[in-house]
Amino acid sequence: VPPPGVPMKLPRYARVNTLKIDTETLVERLRRPKRARTEEENGGGEPQRRGVIRGALPAFTIDEHVPDLLVFPSGTDLHNHPSVRGSQVILQDKSSCLPACVLLGAVPCEPTQKKGDKKKNTIPADAPLEYVLDACAAPGNKTTQLAALGAPHGIKLLAVERDSKRAGVLSQRVQTLNAAKHINVMNTDFFDLTSDVRDAVQGILLDPSCSASGVVSRVDINLKQHRDFLNKGAKPVEDENLLDENDLVDQEENTKDAKDKKPSVSRVEKLAQVQRKLLTHALLSFPACRRVVYSTCSVHEEENEGVVRAVLSDERIAKKGWTLTNIMPRTWRTRGWKSKDDTLPLDFTIRCDPAVDKTNGFYVSRFDRDVVETPAETVA
Ligand code: SAM
Repeated sequence: VPPPGVPMKLPRYARVNTLKIDTETLVERLRRPKRARTEEENGGGEPQRRGVIRGALPAFTIDEHVPDLLVFPSGTDLHNHPSVRGSQVILQDKSSCLPACVLLGAVPCEPTQKKGDKKKNTIPADAPLEYVLDACAAPGNKTTQLAALGAPHGIKLLAVERDSKRAGVLSQRVQTLNAAKHINVMNTDFFDLTSDVRDAVQGILLDPSCSASGVVSRVDINLKQHRDFLNKGAKPVEDENLLDENDLVDQEENTKDAKDKKPSVSRVEKLAQVQRKLLTHALLSFPACRRVVYSTCSVHEEENEGVVRAVLSDERIAKKGWTLTNIMPRTWRTRGWKSKDDTLPLDFTIRCDPAVDKTNGFYVSRFDRDVVETPAETVA
């Protein structure tokens, strides 16, 4: 852990977009040294010196938890790499890759012991979810990851975004990333979905607007270079949540946030209020839904365990059979904060801690139930 005042350096994570290329081929391509250009290839100029490796990338590894995630040393600038420009690789922090993996069971998890069980259940690894809703979807990192993970099982996704500009960004991204076959984008509010849609949903990813207080600013990224890049065309965005945490606008916003604009208590409480409302809706209004993942890139308890605590103390939700599922392997040490008075297994939920997990600060929880309802039982 760096001393106070010295920002944390995180690895650079790059998710392979398996809708465009398989990980093995890409890894082989990235690791293959480029040969030096010949005189002819060099436009008649000096041939490159033998042994010169052009644009060689530093050594990278494959993440131990998240499928298809490459881990580069801190400071590796991949923004201009052909695989990133060609959308074969997406720059996405490891923490932000976890919700989709947890929802689709693509990451190993601890067995969940339920009350009254003699033997331990394993995480419900039943039939794959066929119809999944991303309730707060733009700019689409998690939606497109869900598409990539679920493609082998023919997953269908509905990606909902209420902000029209963001929905536009999301649609564009879905096209560019080759995910349109799996994702239907809808510019609407999560609360306004028709009953036809609500009746069909089997799983929900809920990653709502949050304080983004977990996003670590990365000093090792060349801010100026990216400011120039953005000035060439991309318009800075007003909301830190529009772009993913690797976007430099976001990084700068959050650096400012950390230095002088700590989110106020009332702002966090307001966000938590909306988050509780959204999660309550997810757990009450989708009769065929059997799995919900709730996540934030916040480190505030109010937006994380506080929201989970509040919704599970709602009798209507408990009655519908929703319980927390133990996620990630036992070796994942940074767990949801459980106080002495908590009767809920909040340690089944996880946190990501920059110092321990080498990711942004993040929170992920998963709710499951075995029995689904007939539509009439659902709260409208
Ligand atoms: N999951 C996204 C990703 O990984 O790229 C990031 C989501 S961002 C944290 C939250 C998004 O939810 C924002 O774009 C916001 O406009 C949208 N949103 C918030 N409330 C919503 C609602 N009630 N219905 C639909 N979208 C909503």
